[in-house]
Amino acid sequence: MSAKDRPRDDPWASERAAMLVEIDDDFRRTAGDTGLTAMPASVRAAIAAVPRHRFVPDDERPFAYENRPQPIGHGQTISQPFIVALMTALLELQPQDRVLEIGTGCGYQAAVLARLAARIDSIEIVPELAALATATLAQLGIANVSVHVGDGHQGWGAQAPYDKIIATAAAATLPPAWAEQLAPGGRMVAPLGERDGVQWLHVLQKRRDGSVQRQRILGVRFVPLTGGGV
Ligand code: SAH
Repeated sequence: MSAKDRPRDDPWASERAAMLVEIDDDFRRTAGDTGLTAMPASVRAAIAAVPRHRFVPDDERPFAYENRPQPIGHGQTISQPFIVALMTALLELQPQDRVLEIGTGCGYQAAVLARLAARIDSIEIVPELAALATATLAQLGIANVSVHVGDGHQGWGAQAPYDKIIATAAAATLPPAWAEQLAPGGRMVAPLGERDGVQWLHVLQKRRDGSVQRQRILGVRFVPLTGGGV
């Protein structure tokens, strides 16, 4: 076990524990909407293991474990910890899953996914953020995430199909490529809705016959998906 893995040597351990308690509270509060009465143990363990402070800009570090979104530069934000945990839980990840993430940002969500699935491909439209996320993930020794620069509206066809897809920026309507690149039986978690209008977190499931069934989970507020679209 390396020093960074030893909780007692981690000066952020108590803040991370306090954050988990707040996330637990949010799960309880939203159970009526999400159908999840508690944060799954596997998700809890993943969040407990990822050093969120390493993903935020230096001046944001003191606030890294507050249960709110934080600026990461380029007008973008890292999602609120509860939302990261909720979306991860809704994906129902299996150890063998291949996952596509749209919107790498600082790479924090990808690092959480990386502990619960086999392989993550993550697309980011801002090259500087993609480079930063790549560097942070490498520094932490996370080897099963590949960050790609591109417009996530098109998904990432090279590695399709995916067992799971997660979008961390809101599309006005579902980009067709995402449903195409989801494997039959696969599951997608995505915020859908207008930039300044109502957005809903959705769970979408692709049936064996290729049809996609969607379920509205919770009202949310995400940064919009930018770029040219389809
Ligand atoms: N998962 C991220 C959250 C980042 S916020 C994290 O853990 O930090 C959403 C991200 O989506 C931003 O970094 C933004 O630049 C990116 N984004 C917006 N439009 C995009 C697009 N069309 N393709 C890929 N990424 C996009």
